[in-house]
Amino acid sequence: MISKTTEIEKIVLPTPFLVGPVNVYVIKGDSLTLVDTGPNTLEAKEYLTKALNNLGFTPTDIEQVILTHHHPDHVGLIEELFSHAKIIGHEKCDLWLRKDLTFVSAIEDYFYRFFKSHSVSEELIKKMVKANRYFLSFTGKKGLDMKVKEGDTIPGLPGWKVIETPGHAQSHISLFHEAERLLIGGDHIIAHISSNAILEPPYNKGEDRPLTLLQYREALKKCLNLNVSKVYSGHGETVEDLKGLLDIRFMEHEEKALRLKGMIPKEGITSFELCQLYFRHIYLKEPMLTMSEIIGHLDLLEVREEIETRSRNGIIFYFKK
Ligand SMILES: [Zn+2]
Repeated sequence: MISKTTEIEKIVLPTPFLVGPVNVYVIKGDSLTLVDTGPNTLEAKEYLTKALNNLGFTPTDIEQVILTHHHPDHVGLIEELFSHAKIIGHEKCDLWLRKDLTFVSAIEDYFYRFFKSHSVSEELIKKMVKANRYFLSFTGKKGLDMKVKEGDTIPGLPGWKVIETPGHAQSHISLFHEAERLLIGGDHIIAHISSNAILEPPYNKGEDRPLTLLQYREALKKCLNLNVSKVYSGHGETVEDLKGLLDIRFMEHEEKALRLKGMIPKEGITSFELCQLYFRHIYLKEPMLTMSEIIGHLDLLEVREEIETRSRNGIIFYFKK
């Protein structure tokens, strides 16, 4: 059998977000496939339409769109440009896309209680809820047409399979082409910035919250075992030396955890106090990202039994063991 080399075209789109431009990919499989869409802004819409034209296509030629995860810089244009196409992603992505009111208010309730127990100020909690609503305003209401999970193949895209890579987002999937050792990694693997393992509530009643940094590290190890030769990322350059990059990322986690542990006083401290000490004024601007960083690394230390938590009047304090 003659194997055809996979043709992947990278398109870089502007975003209004802190992260900067986002990459989307056209895969010329049996079905013309787009991985991620960019944000729902006029600028991104024009850029994407023009880039597709340059490749000899129009948006209506795209037959299916695969979403790496639910964040607004990746899913914004599904309604605007691709309402005709089959939208594919992880089932957890669907809830965010449809913006089901029960789901959204459950998230807000959860975070309110969660951050209260971590002694975050009322004002900052409100800011986080507001930011979440702001991000949701960059997506439409169209949900998925097809839900995929670990190991699934995708119709019209022979050779590729789905790898679940939760951590940065619970909905995160990557696409792996085994024969050519290619990975489309979304925001799971980024060359120039360490991906934030963002806090998310549990998706099912009675479950504990996911330990996002621990999940993220497991998912990185999973990708390492795939013997990937090239990663197409959601932001920035393609990654050719995955092992080298991940060695740096794992080292950064260790350094951060060690530094945080060193900051825990004898009498104990809350994660929010640690966040203020560690991130100085940045925590005011980016409360969700900075609290995710702090709690993620505290989770790592706690699982390793280097630290422990004690609850005092409903507030969680961290202690060195
Ligand atoms: Zn993201």
